[in-house]
Amino acid sequence: MSGIYNVNKPDNEPILDYTLGSRERSLIEEALRELQEEILDIPLIIGGKEIRTGIKKPCSLPHDHKRIIGYYHEASEKEVQLAITSALEAKTKWEALPFQHKASIFLKAAELLSTTWRYKMNAATMLAQSKNVYQSEIDSVCELIDFFKFNVTFMEQIYREQGVSTKETWNRTSYSGLDGFVYAVSPFNFTSIGGNLACAPALAGNVVLWKPASSAVYSNYFIMKLLEEAGMPKGVINFIPGPSSRITDEILKHPDFSGFHYTGSTKVFSDIWLKIGQNLPRYKSYPRIVGETGGKNFVFAHKSADIEALSVALIRGAFEYQGQKCSAASRAYIPISLWPSLKERLLHHVTKLKLGDVTEFTNFMNAVIDQRAFNRIIGYIDDVQASNDSSILYGGNYDDSKGYFIEPTLIQTNNPFSKTMVEEIFGPVLTLYVYDDNTFEETLNICETSSPYALTGAIFAKDRHIIDFMEQHLKKSAGNFYINDKPTGAVVGQQPFGGSKASGTNDKAGSKQNLLRWLNTRVVKENFSPPTQMEYPFMS
Ligand code: NAD
Repeated sequence: MSGIYNVNKPDNEPILDYTLGSRERSLIEEALRELQEEILDIPLIIGGKEIRTGIKKPCSLPHDHKRIIGYYHEASEKEVQLAITSALEAKTKWEALPFQHKASIFLKAAELLSTTWRYKMNAATMLAQSKNVYQSEIDSVCELIDFFKFNVTFMEQIYREQGVSTKETWNRTSYSGLDGFVYAVSPFNFTSIGGNLACAPALAGNVVLWKPASSAVYSNYFIMKLLEEAGMPKGVINFIPGPSSRITDEILKHPDFSGFHYTGSTKVFSDIWLKIGQNLPRYKSYPRIVGETGGKNFVFAHKSADIEALSVALIRGAFEYQGQKCSAASRAYIPISLWPSLKERLLHHVTKLKLGDVTEFTNFMNAVIDQRAFNRIIGYIDDVQASNDSSILYGGNYDDSKGYFIEPTLIQTNNPFSKTMVEEIFGPVLTLYVYDDNTFEETLNICETSSPYALTGAIFAKDRHIIDFMEQHLKKSAGNFYINDKPTGAVVGQQPFGGSKASGTNDKAGSKQNLLRWLNTRVVKENFSPPTQMEYPFMS
């Protein structure tokens, strides 16, 4: 049977409010209770089989770190080899499965996540990664659904785009997955990113080994179970949590390694790229490398900016999810003419931010992810306490006795090159540099050149000529650029996400651009009227 099928045009998944008394509020509270009553024993999933190695690591709550809600088993070299074999065994049938059937699995996963899986997935992310209900809803539910649905649509568009044919020839372009397997390595901070790193290459016809971040294994395991319920064939995605560099070294030695799909810090990405280069002679094909990495995201205000909108953008942009979004606002440039009233508005807002457990819904902020992150972030705060060019305007206190809590911290500096103005901190710390209105252009140059990253950035101005000027001037500063908005909150299908320079390969997660990286393209020319004479006319 043949047919050319149309995929339904996707809409972004509506975000539920979880207001007191709502249906979703009681369902999420129930899911949070249920998950906390049980201790999960999380296996590896290889070739569809659950494997328990006995080398176990705890899944604890960042906001209450002595509480353990599960243990996960770690992969060793043996399981990595098994995962590669299982993936390659699954490859031929998966690649041959018609697109409509691959797409159906992801569309069904989206539907399940929107309905029966919604609260379990949301609660798992809230607990394991210490996210409030809203932050978790936009990540683990809405964005993951959007990745599933929009990627199906983008893939359909890729398949439909065909070269020109003529009266005598028919030119067809067809695609398969890459020649071997893809290795996906995901960060802790977005459950949806983990899902997308594994699923985008799979939708394109690849088989995948997925190594989640240790602190996100708990929620990422639920994605594997969701995909299983949606009908994902065994061995297409193999889940192998465990010691990062040992697993990675083992995988990168394999001749069938053909793609790397990564999100995380810049240093880890660069180190892995170097290892891939060193292993190049072993590989059967040139591996595709896609990585979205760190950022030092800015908000730059002009004197014509709306102070109220600017203050809200700074607070939400810097402190939602404890500043642990790759896009979080981390440095700001404020004209001195706006500073007195902006400072007052910032202090007014920041004092209202409550910090604590995710099950207490009045908390805007929760804990940072783990002890290592806590120590790194407070290191920056302690440095400021001892510095003579920067000072703490608000916050700066921290306490890890129960959970890894760090107050939202505002730093004021008179040095636009100070450490907290140029290095990624990845925590609830915003540094503000107040510039003289007369040095506007010079300060724009500093913003553009003082950081090696180019992930997100926002400008605030009402003057249209100034908006145009800033947009042009800062054109290499951010892969996602915002005008009169906070630099966070990219939505799949609306603002495809990613940055260049030290922020990654800018292949835009959740876009056609990203999916193209996971495809092998074959062009077929059929000639209905092949020449039957050897001589060309000009020869006569
Ligand atoms: P991370 O670099 O610590 O870890 C990312 C992944 O790499 C994890 O799975 C980790 O286990 C693995 N890893 C760590 N060391 C490794 C090694 N030596 N060899 C192989 N794998 C290794 O990052 P994280 O703390 O999970 O996430 C935060 C970082 O991710 C920040 O820098 C943030 O900016 C970045 N991020 C970027 C984006 C983006 O779209 N640009 C999105 C989310 C996060």
